[in-house]
Amino acid sequence: MSHKIIDGKKHAQIVKDEVRTRVGALKDMGWSPRLISIDIGEIGAVRVFIKNQQKACAEVGIEYENRHYSTDVTQREVLAAIHALNADPRVTGIILQRPVPPTLDLEELENAMHPSKDVEGMSSANIGNIVYGDSSLGPCTSLASVELLRTTGLDLRGLEVVVVGHSEIVGKPVALLLVEDLATVTICHHATRNLTYHTRQADALFIAVGKPGLIKADMVKPGAAVIDIGINQVDVTLPDGTQGTKIVGDVDFEGVHQVAGWITPVPGGVGPMTVAMLLRNTVVATERQKSKYEETMRV
Ligand code: NAP
Repeated sequence: MSHKIIDGKKHAQIVKDEVRTRVGALKDMGWSPRLISIDIGEIGAVRVFIKNQQKACAEVGIEYENRHYSTDVTQREVLAAIHALNADPRVTGIILQRPVPPTLDLEELENAMHPSKDVEGMSSANIGNIVYGDSSLGPCTSLASVELLRTTGLDLRGLEVVVVGHSEIVGKPVALLLVEDLATVTICHHATRNLTYHTRQADALFIAVGKPGLIKADMVKPGAAVIDIGINQVDVTLPDGTQGTKIVGDVDFEGVHQVAGWITPVPGGVGPMTVAMLLRNTVVATERQKSKYEETMRV
């Protein structure tokens, strides 16, 4: 079976080029997209996210500023900071880095961000808008996963799609986005009785679970498109015999790539495209804020 690797970095670059042009046009009109990140506590993975976001923003001309808080910050203090950013016309996008300390109510913080500045698409309003067919500020990972499926050229209308994992920020929005394109979507989760029965029906299979090697070659229909959203750090023995770690997805890549028609690698698949979607959402948010401002000025 011939297979094609879906190169997330390549497709992300195409999106970044488009974003750079739109950022330039906005700046020419006096609107500079400006993203503020909020992070709380000392988490190594969050430091990496921030560094990657900073670099990606610099590549396309988006201003990026990180505001760091220690773990003893209170819910009221973070809410006050978010409200101040909502009210500041120079700030066009806000990101709240996850996880936040267990002492804080993440959902309340996410919903405190004004939906027009919630560029990660995590607020109830932006996730809910997908139900009404508006995915313009949808959750970045879900948008990225569906964009990568589109690169295969498969006609989504009537396509048998299976989504494994039903989290609010990945699995459910992926399913809703695909239904908008008239795909026939099945969602699987921990209570699904026979996962293989479902995954083998799929022309396109999305996996967002967080379990390395969950999807094996015999669970995939030959020729299917496999979009692996999982990111897992696993222990490995390095070539020099020492112990190390590496990042893998939820799919047994070695086996599945022999069977699949298309497959996203981890790393290098959904991850880079997710950052590109964050950049695109930031531009969309700025363009919308500009239109809203111009409408208000006309009245
Ligand atoms: P999550 O909130 O933990 O959700 C995992 C989902 O998998 C849940 O719906 C869970 O169902 C389901 N599940 C658990 N065991 C299962 C099984 N054996 N069979 C079928 N379904 C099962 O995780 P998430 O935030 O959606 O993230 C999922 C993965 O995607 C993680 O590896 C995460 O690191 C990765 N991720 C990647 C990106 C990216 O940019 N590439 C972004 C976000 C997340 P129940 O709730 O019913 O148990």
